[in-house]
Amino acid sequence: MNIAVIGTGYVGIVTGTIFAEQGNTVWCVDINEEKVALIKRGESPIYEPGLSELLTKNIKSKTFNVTTSLAEAMESAEIVFIAVGTPPAADGSADMTAVYTVAQEIGKNLHLPYTVIVDKSTVPVGTADTVTHLIQKELDARGEQLSFDVVSNPEFLKEGTAIKDCLYPDRVVIGAYSDKAFKVMEKLYAPVLRTNKPILFMKPRSAEMTKYAANSMLATRISFMNEIANLCDKVNADVHDVRLGMGSDSRIGYPFLFPGVGYGGSCFPKDVQALVQVAKENSSDALILNATEEVNARQKQVLAQKVISHFGGNLNGKHIAVWGLSFKPNTDDMREAPSIIIINELLKAGATVRAHDPVAIDNTKEILGDAIEYCSSRYETAEGADALCLITEWGDYKNMDFEKMKQQLREPVIFDGRNQYEPKEMKDAGFIYYCIGRPKA
Ligand code: NAD
Repeated sequence: MNIAVIGTGYVGIVTGTIFAEQGNTVWCVDINEEKVALIKRGESPIYEPGLSELLTKNIKSKTFNVTTSLAEAMESAEIVFIAVGTPPAADGSADMTAVYTVAQEIGKNLHLPYTVIVDKSTVPVGTADTVTHLIQKELDARGEQLSFDVVSNPEFLKEGTAIKDCLYPDRVVIGAYSDKAFKVMEKLYAPVLRTNKPILFMKPRSAEMTKYAANSMLATRISFMNEIANLCDKVNADVHDVRLGMGSDSRIGYPFLFPGVGYGGSCFPKDVQALVQVAKENSSDALILNATEEVNARQKQVLAQKVISHFGGNLNGKHIAVWGLSFKPNTDDMREAPSIIIINELLKAGATVRAHDPVAIDNTKEILGDAIEYCSSRYETAEGADALCLITEWGDYKNMDFEKMKQQLREPVIFDGRNQYEPKEMKDAGFIYYCIGRPKA
């Protein structure tokens, strides 16, 4: 099939690459000329495990193409994916400017007798209807009578495992009004559905709501567990045991019950806020969603507060080493990363900070500039530091050389925002060890 994907961000480039890998001819479009030039040279604009290899291979075989011209990409596209950003507006609602602009551009460039336009961006309920209206308006202005359907096909990939998630999705959700559109989408997704994973057909509004509801549920589980962990800290219970005790209940399950430094990234924070706005616009209270957000905002302060209170209320003259900056491991994405808030709190309390991250340093520099120092080696961060803060649980950090770390640190103090180590093991190794919701050994 001939496919156009508009937007080559974390979702667009992965989606385009996977469809190309499955034998389709894909044209990706982006208005960012630098990004397009980079991709043309065979380089991935993002860090995503496994992406570079597939991208290079498909660029070579010309199944993956990239351009800044939407008209060029749409020349023979039977399916057009909208995968542009929907960042939060000032009031928390989804800023739909990019989606609507693209919808109008699609209307101007449709020319096949029938095209399926797919909303892959995460969008408020009713967007498929608005996109349909915008495209139809352009066709009317051109005096063209072309047939098209707008489909909602929300994306559930996770940064860090995006390739695997797209090749082996838990399910594919298709929201459409017409059988013709369903059939086109079923054919497109046939290769990934051979493992008997479900393709769920529904109306566009339900598909749009499914995406927000799924992300909000995951965010809520995280906030719930963070609240339980903070309580564990107060009552001397161990959240690690509590998680196992809860998760073994088949009605609950284990995933997304890890306490930590709060959720970040480009999806959970903005999607929860956007759903709150959808509720407001429809005269509904979003009590749980509001609480989820509030708990998360507070959780981002917890680790820094532990550091500040350990050092007696201020960090003047203290030097703190930080491990992990990206909002989660295996990505260079810094959007809404808890590390930014934690580091700013440490700086505000008077500390100096030196940080390491395997891939997110360049993106962090764009946010924090030279407010902190950056290190290419994780142990270098700790040289002469008064304490270490582990913020993102990269695999590299799981195996710490305790002796080396003790030699580097001025005081053997570790603040572990992701419960990566065992309190008893840390005590035996001679560390003063703080984590989230676990009692001191
Ligand atoms: P992103 O910001 O990384 O990428 C968006 C891209 O769209 C950018 O490269 C931008 O230059 C391009 N763009 C903007 N306007 C354009 C236009 N008029 N024409 C062509 N290109 C244009 O965003 P992302 O993280 O890929 O997310 C895209 C959508 O997918 C969002 O709605 C997001 O909520 C959703 N989503 C993201 C993830 C994720 O993990 N990142 C997962 C699931 C769903």
